[in-house]
Amino acid sequence: MKKLEEYVRCIPDFPEEGVMFRDVTSVLQDADGLHLAIDTMQELIDDLEFDVVVGPESRGFIFGTPIAYNNHKPFVLIRKKGKLPCETASMEYDLEYGTAVIEIHKDAIRPGQKILIVDDLIATGGTTEAMIRLVEQLGGEVVGVVVLMELAGLKGREKLAGYRLESAICFE
Ligand code: 5GP
Repeated sequence: MKKLEEYVRCIPDFPEEGVMFRDVTSVLQDADGLHLAIDTMQELIDDLEFDVVVGPESRGFIFGTPIAYNNHKPFVLIRKKGKLPCETASMEYDLEYGTAVIEIHKDAIRPGQKILIVDDLIATGGTTEAMIRLVEQLGGEVVGVVVLMELAGLKGREKLAGYRLESAICFE
């Protein structure tokens, strides 16, 4: 049986020179890869108690929804600015070049709810940190973050000190 990391295709110099891009599509387009990815992420949070799963556009939707479904919990979307139709809370954060804004529906999280954040990949941790701040702005308590892949060399884990971070695959 293939290991989970063997389903991840690596593309050098994408989207720019010097970047080793870890491709999630090669995991998803293989039925065994998809099962193994979700099941491995699930095992990592089996002991965790949470009320709501939150995931960001767009690959966070892919992994967050089955985790929410497995645990019979609601799934809440974090989207790029201007995409959500009702009243939103927003958070701006720094990208390599410029800034980005993410949003969440204000009524999606109630104060005191325990939140699990799910995404495909953590690199520098900037996106995850912004999601945590957004959830906390609404009074949610982030009890864990689970990702399919962690790029350890970019030290996202250090940025999330104090939060539980689980990754199914860790690339150096
Ligand atoms: P961060 O904010 O942690 O630096 O970047 C995380 C985001 O960038 C993730 O949501 C992910 O979608 C995207 N990303 C960065 N590098 C890669 C990569 O090598 N492969 C994939 N699939 N996504 C990446």
